[in-house]
Amino acid sequence: MNAIWKPTQLQQKRRRRNRQILWMAITLVFIFGLFLLSPDSPSPNRVTTDEPLQADTPPTAEQTPAATTPPLVSDHIVQRTIEPGDNLSAIFDSVKIHQSILLQILAADESLLALDILRPGNTLTFSRDKETRELVKMELYIHPAHQVIYHRVDENSFDYNEIVLPGTWEQQLLSGEIEGSFYQSALSIGLSEQETGNITDLFKNKVNFSRDIRAGDHFQVVRNLQLIDGKLTGQSHIEAVRIFSRNQHYTAFLYEDGNYYDDRGESLGRAFQRYPFKGHHRVSSNFNLARRHPITKRISPHKGVDFAMPVGTPIYSTGDGVVTRVKNHRYAGKYVEIQHDGRYLTRYLHLSRITVKRGQKVQRGERIALSGNTGRSTGPHLHYELHVKGKAVNPLKAKIPMAASIPKEKFQEFQQKAAELISLMEQPRFDLVGI
Ligand SMILES: [Zn+2]
Repeated sequence: MNAIWKPTQLQQKRRRRNRQILWMAITLVFIFGLFLLSPDSPSPNRVTTDEPLQADTPPTAEQTPAATTPPLVSDHIVQRTIEPGDNLSAIFDSVKIHQSILLQILAADESLLALDILRPGNTLTFSRDKETRELVKMELYIHPAHQVIYHRVDENSFDYNEIVLPGTWEQQLLSGEIEGSFYQSALSIGLSEQETGNITDLFKNKVNFSRDIRAGDHFQVVRNLQLIDGKLTGQSHIEAVRIFSRNQHYTAFLYEDGNYYDDRGESLGRAFQRYPFKGHHRVSSNFNLARRHPITKRISPHKGVDFAMPVGTPIYSTGDGVVTRVKNHRYAGKYVEIQHDGRYLTRYLHLSRITVKRGQKVQRGERIALSGNTGRSTGPHLHYELHVKGKAVNPLKAKIPMAASIPKEKFQEFQQKAAELISLMEQPRFDLVGI
C-alpha cells in the first residue's frame, strides 16, 4: 500500500511545485517589466556585467531555479540560465569571457561532450579569480543529480569533475485504459512522449499498436522516479509494462543488465553487434579511464576505442535505436549518438560524413556514416563509445545483449523480481484511482 500512496503524494507535490514555479515566473516577468519601464533604472545590459548585485534587483537564484534567474551571484561569480536558442559562444560573450577560454573548456569536454547539449533550464556558473579576474571554474548544472565542474589546471587548459549522484528511486504505478490511440492514452495518464515512444519500441516486434490494441484494453506501467533530498530530479525509467488486449497480454520487465524481458525471460530487445564496421580494423588506442596524457601527465580518460581505418569506411549502428545527436564538435569532430533500447547508448566520432538525421530510427547493422579524420585527430580513425546506464564502458569487453533470454542460472532471480512487480500491479483497482 505504501508504494501505491507515495506516488500520489509525489505527483501532488510536483503539481504544486509546477504551479509555484509558474506563478513565480509570472511575478518575475511582471517585476522585470516594471524594472525596464522605470525611467531611472539602469540599462538592461547592466544585469550581465560584473558589478555587485543591486538591492532592488529581482530575487536570488535559489528562489528561481529556472528562466529569469538573475545572472549575478557576487562580483566574481556570474550565473546564466540556458534559454531556448542560446549557444555557448554568445553566452561567453555576454559574461565577457574570451572565446579562447571557451575553446580550452571545449577541449576538456571532448571526452564527456556534456556541453554539446544545453537544455533550457540548465545553468552555467562562472567563477573568476578575485585578483586576476581570470576564469577559474565553470559549473554546468544539468539537474540535481548531475553536474559537471570545469576547473582551470594551468594557463592553457581546463579539466573536469563530473558529479553524478545516485539519489533514491521511488516506484510509481500508472494505469490506464485505451481511449483513442495507445499513444494518447499513455500521455493522458502522465507518461512522457519519450517514455511512450520507448514502450512502443519495446514491443515493436510483438504488438501492432494500431491493429492489436483497441478501445477498452488496459495497460499498466511501473515507473521509477529519481529524488535528491526529497525532490524529483526529472530523471525516470520504466521498470515494468503490462498491456492487456482482448485475447493476449504482453509484458516487459527491466532486468539488471539494462534490458527488457517478457515474463518467460525472453529478451524484447534485439542483440547488439560488437563492431560498428565490417571486416577487421586495427585498434590504435584502447579504452582506458586512467590514461595519462603523454605531455601534460594528467589523467585524461579515453572513453572509447579507436580503430585505424581509411577515411570513407562505412560505419554501422551496433544496435536498434534512435539517433539522439548529429553534431560537429571542434575536438570530437563530426559525430553521431544513438540511444538504444534499455539503457545503452553509442557514439561514433571523427566522421567524414553522416548519413542519418537526429530523431531517425535506425536498425542494428544500418549504415549511419562514413569514417573520417575530423576534429582533433592524429590520423584517420573511428572513435567508438558504448555507454551502459550513463557510464562509458569498454566496448570490446562489455557484456552486450547478445543472448536472447535470461541465462538459466539467473532465471529464478529474474522470476522473483518480475513476481514482485506483478504483485505491485495487482493491487485492488480503487488504489490506482488518481495516480
Ligand atoms: Zn579515441
